[in-house]
Amino acid sequence: MIFKVAIPVPIYRVFDYLAPADIAVESLELGVRLEVPFGNAKKIAYLLEITQQSTVDITKLKSVIRVLDQQSLLSTKDLRLLQWASDYYHHPIGEVISTAFPTALRQGKSADLKVEKQYCLTELGKSIDSAVLKRSLKQKELLDKFQNGVAKLSETELTAWNPHWQPALKALITKQLLTQSDVNTSADAIKQILRNPALTCNPQQQAAIDNVCNNLNHFKAFLLEGVTGSGKTEVYLQIIQAVLEQGLQVLVLVPEITLTPQLEERFRHRFAVNIAISHSKLTDKQRQIAWLQMQTGKCAIMLGTRSALFTPLKRPGLIILDEEHDGSFKQQEGFRFSARDVALVRAKLLAIPVLLGSATPSLESLHNAQRQRYELLHLPERAGNSIEPVLQLLDIRNKTIQEGLSEALIAEMHKTLAKNEQVLLFLNRRGFAPTLICHGCGWVARCLNCDANLVIHFDEQRLRCHHCEQEQLLLKQCPDCQCKQLTPLGLGTERVERVLADLFKDKVTVRLDRDTTQRKGVLEDYLQQINAGAVDIILGTQMLAKGHHFPNVTLVAILDVDSGLFSIDFHASEKLAQMIVQVSGRAGRAEKPGTVIMQTRQPDHPLLTTLITEGYNSFAKTVLNERKAASLPPYSYQALLRVQALEPEAPKLFFQALKELLQKIKSGHTLVLGPVAAPMAKRAGQYRYQMLFQNTRRDELQAFLKTLMPALTQLKQAKKIRWSLDVDPVDLY
Ligand code: ADP
Ligand code: ZN
Ligand code: ZN
Repeated sequence: MIFKVAIPVPIYRVFDYLAPADIAVESLELGVRLEVPFGNAKKIAYLLEITQQSTVDITKLKSVIRVLDQQSLLSTKDLRLLQWASDYYHHPIGEVISTAFPTALRQGKSADLKVEKQYCLTELGKSIDSAVLKRSLKQKELLDKFQNGVAKLSETELTAWNPHWQPALKALITKQLLTQSDVNTSADAIKQILRNPALTCNPQQQAAIDNVCNNLNHFKAFLLEGVTGSGKTEVYLQIIQAVLEQGLQVLVLVPEITLTPQLEERFRHRFAVNIAISHSKLTDKQRQIAWLQMQTGKCAIMLGTRSALFTPLKRPGLIILDEEHDGSFKQQEGFRFSARDVALVRAKLLAIPVLLGSATPSLESLHNAQRQRYELLHLPERAGNSIEPVLQLLDIRNKTIQEGLSEALIAEMHKTLAKNEQVLLFLNRRGFAPTLICHGCGWVARCLNCDANLVIHFDEQRLRCHHCEQEQLLLKQCPDCQCKQLTPLGLGTERVERVLADLFKDKVTVRLDRDTTQRKGVLEDYLQQINAGAVDIILGTQMLAKGHHFPNVTLVAILDVDSGLFSIDFHASEKLAQMIVQVSGRAGRAEKPGTVIMQTRQPDHPLLTTLITEGYNSFAKTVLNERKAASLPPYSYQALLRVQALEPEAPKLFFQALKELLQKIKSGHTLVLGPVAAPMAKRAGQYRYQMLFQNTRRDELQAFLKTLMPALTQLKQAKKIRWSLDVDPVDLY
């Protein structure tokens, strides 16, 4: 017997091995993990096929070392999905399958799921007043947690609540207020779904919920377009409830959970069922448990980021993708896939509905809704009594500007702060300033490895490249002319933070960007301070555009919209509009109306005026028309071949060979554009080039790539460079 297996190596083929002699091969399921010899090492492989024939001389075949799983952890449908993804993205099947697994399982660790310990209140614990514990605050908090929620919490839930729960728990057990619960944790045993009742919905929310709930148990795609604060999350929660009532599981994908800690809290507040969480900040162990809990059906809901997409579901019922427009759903290295697009294929394979939600849907999704591929659900108004913010352009041409702040804006900020309301300032550039220039000779601090300037980080007295690892001490003297007049040019969040300290002396500012929130828990602390009203001015980068609710913010200012207006990438205007609308959505969440001020030197720019006077949807229609006229996606399909090498010669030879190859391949109507230097022609020491393939028909482009890619991988010039193919690229960098 021969096993055809997939091995996670960058090679476009499957491998043959002799079946192990000591096991009943017929009973093996496809997809089981195997350990196989590979070169001089051992690798974890995945069984794809059992056959009697090999394309290789049988005497040369090696044997499988051992079989790791009794049963496949992936279903046949999961395997089909992965095979599809491997074909569509032209990525080696072994690497694609291994993406579906959490790291620990990829390394061959056992898939046995230890039953998690759960804890509950004792009779004494139920009746006691937690105030008696006031001298040990941690214990009181923990008891409150149990008394205010449902009676039972698992280790995972406790860790989500507070990573250092163990000592307090031990103490409460000793005091006989808590005890280990021996109730079966399997989903079947959980009768109670809700922990807290659902909200009463407004008619639009109800219509959206009813529509999806009338379409459970078969494939259908929905696009929920709802302005920020319109109650999309409530709609998700109520649809999820309906799916849970059928005993099925739900996969919820979000861009970045760590940026939106409230979301997990909201899910746990609503549902009593077990919830698995999966994102990159968790340990391998935690992610493995979460994955297995879904795979075995012990958890009913998974809340995860992009990589959770492939989590096997024992009883799949629904997939939700929140903030579907968000760029983080696209994996940008290795196996480059769009979690949104694959989620649709997955839902179709599983015959379940898929719900995409956003305040600013991607143009692809709007286009699919226009073509009736997705059913559009609309939430045009904010839920509750909150009012949508007013957007204004502030013309700053010829105006005095202090470190990015115009006088008019400063005046508005004073007015808002005087009312004890909060101000949010958005600037999508961290660091002090993006450039250090010499006033004497014009020298600019450049990165040695990249086509980029070094960014000034004043707090740390460093110059740092944002594209590679390079950094150095902040210079005091020009290395060219030795003069001491080195001047920061341009604006970063650090620089604005300093001027705020001068201009608003008695006000508290927090800066939220990647530099200030690196340490675990810091972001949560800041968010808590903001919500508690201890902060007056919130300054930050795109981190602020993601999902936070700042009820007391009534003024939002976008300091520099212009820098987003002139990109060479056609995706840029869409991203800019989404960002403006998303940031604006942070204003005036509660009953207080909000204002959004955008400082610009382009007050007549059609993108900005359409967005402001007519809204995101009109903007999207305009841009879609432009794309149609130019035959750009979603009216055509693209694949980007990126090439890089430590010197320019190898790519040149590669492209020569590739061009010869392309002449032999029937490209049909596929346009071949390039090669050209990448927009950032050098990065981390690598010279970068690209070639774009485009076709108005997806199937033709796919057929072309199917012929091209195997031949391309065989080119000997391809071995001297690094290359990658990006199907449906979301940016051209
Ligand atoms: P979105 O996800 O669209 O930004 P949310 O679901 O977070 O909106 O809702 C925004 C706010 O409105 C939340 O505080 C939520 O509790 C509240 N909300 C949502 N739906 C309702 C409703 N039907 N009645 C009252 N409040 C609601
Ligand atoms: Zn100089
Ligand atoms: Zn660099």
